[in-house]
Amino acid sequence: MGRDILKQDKKLVWHPFTPLQGVADNLVVTSAEGSYLITEDGRKILDGVSSWWVNLHGHSHPLISKAIAEQSAKLEHVIFAGFTHEPAVELAKNLLSILPDNQKKVFYSDNGSTAVEVGIKMAIQYWYNKKSNRKKIIAIDGAYHGDTFGAMSVGERSIFTSPFTNYLFQVEFVDFPFPEKEKTVFEHFCTMIDSEEISAFIFEPLIQGASGMRMYSAKMLDKMIGYAQSKDVICIADEVMTGFGRTGSLFASDHLNHKPDVICLSKGITGGALPLGATSCNQRIVEAFQSNDLKEAFLHGHSYTANPMACAAANASFDLLTSENCIESIKRISDQHDSFRKRLKHPRVKDVRCKGVVLAVEFETDEDSSYLSELRNRIYPFFLERNILLRPLGNLIYVLPPYVITNEELGSIYKAIEEFLDTIET
Ligand code: PMP
Repeated sequence: MGRDILKQDKKLVWHPFTPLQGVADNLVVTSAEGSYLITEDGRKILDGVSSWWVNLHGHSHPLISKAIAEQSAKLEHVIFAGFTHEPAVELAKNLLSILPDNQKKVFYSDNGSTAVEVGIKMAIQYWYNKKSNRKKIIAIDGAYHGDTFGAMSVGERSIFTSPFTNYLFQVEFVDFPFPEKEKTVFEHFCTMIDSEEISAFIFEPLIQGASGMRMYSAKMLDKMIGYAQSKDVICIADEVMTGFGRTGSLFASDHLNHKPDVICLSKGITGGALPLGATSCNQRIVEAFQSNDLKEAFLHGHSYTANPMACAAANASFDLLTSENCIESIKRISDQHDSFRKRLKHPRVKDVRCKGVVLAVEFETDEDSSYLSELRNRIYPFFLERNILLRPLGNLIYVLPPYVITNEELGSIYKAIEEFLDTIET
């Protein structure tokens, strides 16, 4: 059966971020439970990356599955213009109860990229409705905000965006605020803000995910937001990856004194069971749209906006996330990562860092050789052969597990990382 699926898959299906030729066969997954993916040939693979950072409480969680099943039998979907439903309202209430308390309204979409598109469009239209000339957006060097055109525009220009460069709108980039660069970055940032042409500042708070789990200080970000807001710039936190406990608190914005005006959410929102995006905003944004004039309304929506099954999954995930058990697990995993970080010493390790449940181990590489790509090609199969799913980001391995992972399972990942390090020539 597995062979046949693979053959058909090769012929008919196009997979994300994957060349159409020259890559290893996909693994056929037939079920998943807890922290494990189970393949058609019976392998149990430990999901060390929460299936692209979405899974919070383990796969096929019975409470989330039940919520989806019950909701699908009652109301599977309904157009969300002119209609509403309890799961969507309940979810808005739930989200606003844990988001920073300046957040007042929730706009639903389908995924992380659309949550970001909505955030950017809200900010742009805010200034349009106010008949202002502010047009420029600031983003941080190395940013990744998704694969749709607006999200790509505010992201780093890279091999992922190069075919589309001419179609992306212009954005002002500020350098990544590495600790030793904070002063110059802040000065440059302030100069840009002082131009009074800036409409919005978008950022991945505390951790830039796709560019290599790059971490920066909450104090620095807080200072940047504080200055931007003092000049009325709309601050958009892309919490698509950092949201729902990943940085150790429920949102990365919880580490800040100055709260973002707009917050983009997806990934963990449904516990990883169904696609859903949400963009929340403060009263200032809401007020700019409070009008009977259709031209001032936010004319944006998706067919599956606020899908009831996705909202029901998100409400079940919310109950799990806010339980004492889950909060303790987040703390436990954070502590385990931190003690591994402290004890990991290896000549090939350039840096090991962690924040909350995110652990990143960066390797020393000789950038002038093909070593980097060679290393990347070795990491993925090395771990998979040991039934551990870790996807490297260049010369970096990261661990971002579901909260149900046990200390023993975490230990097996750390051990495999140490074994991998021993295979690299010094
Ligand atoms: N923003 C951030 C910070 C992300 O990490 C991602 C996805 N990795 C996205 C946006 C895009 O989300 P999606 O893949 O659901 O479109």
